[in-house]
Amino acid sequence: MMTKSNDPGHDAVDGRTDPRVAPRPEVDRIGGRKLKPATLMMGHGYDPALSEGALKPPIFLTSTFVFPSAAAGKRHFEGVTGKRPGGAEGLVYSRFNGPNQEILEDRLAVWEEAEDALAFSSGMSAIATLFLSMVKPGDTIVHSGPLYAATETLIARILGRFGVHWLDFPAGATRAEIDTVLGKAASGNVALIYLESPANPTNALVDVEAVAASRDAIFANHAAKPPIAIDNTFLGPLWHKPLKQGADIVVYSLTKYAGGHSDLVAGGVLGRKDHIDTIRLMRNTIGTICDPNTAWMLLRSLETLELRMSRAGENAAKVCAFLAEHPKVERVGYLGFLEGGKDERQADIYRRHCTGAGSTFSLYLKGGEAEAFRFLDALRIAKLAVSLGGTETLASHPAGMTHLSVPDARKQALGITDNLVRISIGVEDADDLIADFAQALDAI
Ligand SMILES: *Cc1c(COP(=O)(O)O)cnc(C)c1O
Repeated sequence: MMTKSNDPGHDAVDGRTDPRVAPRPEVDRIGGRKLKPATLMMGHGYDPALSEGALKPPIFLTSTFVFPSAAAGKRHFEGVTGKRPGGAEGLVYSRFNGPNQEILEDRLAVWEEAEDALAFSSGMSAIATLFLSMVKPGDTIVHSGPLYAATETLIARILGRFGVHWLDFPAGATRAEIDTVLGKAASGNVALIYLESPANPTNALVDVEAVAASRDAIFANHAAKPPIAIDNTFLGPLWHKPLKQGADIVVYSLTKYAGGHSDLVAGGVLGRKDHIDTIRLMRNTIGTICDPNTAWMLLRSLETLELRMSRAGENAAKVCAFLAEHPKVERVGYLGFLEGGKDERQADIYRRHCTGAGSTFSLYLKGGEAEAFRFLDALRIAKLAVSLGGTETLASHPAGMTHLSVPDARKQALGITDNLVRISIGVEDADDLIADFAQALDAI
């Protein structure tokens, strides 16, 4: 890779090498100490010596890359087309990859200690590319429910048109319930197990360890076990690392916390190298990679990922503590409040899988749509918008907005009631946010 110091056969971008900034080996350890992601985000995968000494990677606006020789060009294409495993050894054409995207992919993989990663033009293009690379007519996708609405549409209405079947289990399902659904699906060809945790907008957590144990038991005598993929947009990569609980592939909408400033749309997929190679071949074919400018913006975002998510998480804990005690609030659906009693199973998953409660939660007000709308219209700091994970606090009304087209019975089953407000807390001052929510509650 052009941007990497360990890449044979490449000098500086323009062919010159400045002896003052000769390529240096990458530092990911000091003594016995393995450096943390927050440290690696400042330099990992980029060698200034290969870009005129520039501290930050330039944005590489080019559609194609010059081969050093005809033989090198042939080798590149053997990698790109899958004739030789492992993908491209260098850069070939910008539908396949580019320096900014490669640095981004290396840094994304660091957070979850994934073997490899891919960047995409949106969360949905990442999910669509994953599905297209794994399923064929007659196959079954087993998934947790509910899923992000566009993901449900993609599985049921779009892949369904091409003869792909699906079966689902509720996000909070027990091992026995998962066994039942997977056992039933296993009479056909299960191509993929697809999870989303916590589920939107219920915040229900999936027991990834139980899904992995069920998959391993039910497919013990099969030639190949279906991979487990999981959408980790809501808690990842800081508070939930599902590869550690037995998932094989992790999917992200990088539009949310990873991008973090509500100014870009992008997606990512991380995981085991053999799966990533399969998905990369599909991405190379259909061109769902993100553009260099977006990749560059994400590199800037990742430098502050831990700072931003930590602050948003602390703010959410303070805001939720305030809201939970307020007389006009019926209930706050916040992962940090899970404890024994009827929540015991969810609380158990939370303790085993998560290291933080995130900053996106459900606020159930006393009343119905009128009260929810009055509250939303009175907010002065929090903005009324869908999406989440940005530096600013956002609030929305799922029943009337993101989930408007969901049938009433399903809405009731999912707890998407007219008094529900979804809130994503940002990095503002926590007491200012509390003051805003207090005056909006007074306005009801
Ligand atoms: C936003 C989101 C997506 C889709 O991502 P885009 O970047 O909007 O395409 C998928 N899954 C979850 C959980 C999301 O929140």
